[in-house]
Amino acid sequence: MSLAFDDYGRPYIILREQGSKKRMKGLEAYKSNILAAKAIANTLSSSLGPKGMDKMLVSPDGDVSVTNDGATIVEKMEIQHPTAKLLVELSQSQDAEIGDGTTGVVVLAGKLLEQALTLLDKGIHPLKISDGFDRACDVAIKHLENISEEIDIQANEHEALIQAACTALGSKVVSKRKRELGKIAVTAVLDVADLGRKDVNLDLIKIQTKTGGSVEDTRLISGILIDKDMSHPQMVKEVNDAKICLLTCPFEPPKPKTKHNINISSAEDYKKLYLQEQQYFVDMVKLVKDSGANIALCQWGFDDEANHLLLQNNLPAVRWVSGTDVELIAMATGARIIPRFQEITPEKLGKAGSVKEVQFGTSNERMLVIENCQCTKAVTILIRGGSQMIVDEAKRSIHDAICVIRNLIKDNRIVYGGGSAELACAIQVLQYADEVSSVEQYAIRSFADALEGIPSCLADNCGLNPITSVAQAKARQLQENNHRIGIDCMELGTTDMKEQRIYETLSSKKQQIQLATQVVKMILKIDDVIAPDDY
Ligand code: ADP
Repeated sequence: MSLAFDDYGRPYIILREQGSKKRMKGLEAYKSNILAAKAIANTLSSSLGPKGMDKMLVSPDGDVSVTNDGATIVEKMEIQHPTAKLLVELSQSQDAEIGDGTTGVVVLAGKLLEQALTLLDKGIHPLKISDGFDRACDVAIKHLENISEEIDIQANEHEALIQAACTALGSKVVSKRKRELGKIAVTAVLDVADLGRKDVNLDLIKIQTKTGGSVEDTRLISGILIDKDMSHPQMVKEVNDAKICLLTCPFEPPKPKTKHNINISSAEDYKKLYLQEQQYFVDMVKLVKDSGANIALCQWGFDDEANHLLLQNNLPAVRWVSGTDVELIAMATGARIIPRFQEITPEKLGKAGSVKEVQFGTSNERMLVIENCQCTKAVTILIRGGSQMIVDEAKRSIHDAICVIRNLIKDNRIVYGGGSAELACAIQVLQYADEVSSVEQYAIRSFADALEGIPSCLADNCGLNPITSVAQAKARQLQENNHRIGIDCMELGTTDMKEQRIYETLSSKKQQIQLATQVVKMILKIDDVIAPDDY
């Protein structure tokens, strides 16, 4: 597309290959964008909440995943529509920043778009709608801060953190074991947390999955677990006071980088070459041994020849250690990653209390645990489960729980879930709407309606009547001046979310409302779509 001017200086647009382009303008563009984005939100809305449904997604090459995590669902849906892609990014940015609330943010954006569509039909200008939403969002955020409560993360053996983790896990496949998994997540985060700086380096928590056993067998290992074993079955199974040589070069003779041929014309030449190759191996093993290392971890594989020599020299070794593991081990043990054998020196070795091989269940599969690392404490959560699908979903769920706990360590304010916080904000936004005399008033009111959409969706997903449940909860919030009344999804007999202990982080809720509003505003500003015909 390019801009040109006619003889009178009037601008006009030239579209290349005009026949094959599609163009939508004005109201048609707004509506088409909104409908595309809403379709995504509608797909996710049945997954929201503790009784939300899971989705089964099959990739083009036949991999099946079953998940309830919003970010994963939209990512695997392979969405083509450009506006709908904005919602995918919305969910992903919530995932990147907060880690939890990825379904909620898309559902809220969908509700806002639904309202925007009605307002457009009424003839209200998109910019007025966008402005009204913006003002309403500020009011909602302010009110969220007012109703948030600080929790004592240390009290009662970190009970509040466990509850918050349980809320995040409650909607997932693993919800039956939410308390056990919640405790594991809390212990893992507290083990690596720097409470003084209120910071958690999530890289120090490794989540390792292994099919077999059941979800109950999931456990926390205080050390780094790697899914590898010693390179030779006769090597020692445990190295105490380990001095680790961390190599990113293969245990094999150097190979010419360019294409060269070696011509061997006599048996003697062959023998010479053989002996030289042998010498390479001997030298390599010697360099590692001389540095004082008592175990070598190698990112690459090694020849049988090298393996044999390592065994003969009593140097246990591990091959094919993954790149991420190499980095984590380096961070935790203080090892320098060594790219060439000539560079091995005693100072570059990492130190750990022990490196030992462990076996799980009755299978013959072994893993290595590196414990008591010298520099930082790193932990591993070993997730077990009957099938790959279950362990994958359990991994995503535990990741969400870990993020919630990390967020609470950074900022210990919570709001109550079950739609109560959204409902309280909706009431506040409605009150504010009455004070606005301009046309934005309608948009502000619609924003409140969209917020009410969350409790309504929660009620719908657990088989309650959404209209009655939300009306009752709203009336009680107003009568009792109690912002904690929400939807009793689990039918526990109380709608007070404090009694049900449904904790959500203030940071997540704030981010959800802000991000959803931003995306909707962005969609409302698009009034011209020019795309290839097949889009
Ligand atoms: P997300 O991916 O957005 O975290 P979830 O499917 O985990 O979505 O659902 C989160 C929503 O479910 C939140 O609004 C939360 O308040 C609500 N929720 C979670 N557990 C309960 C519960 N036991 N009772 C009522 N609401 C709950």
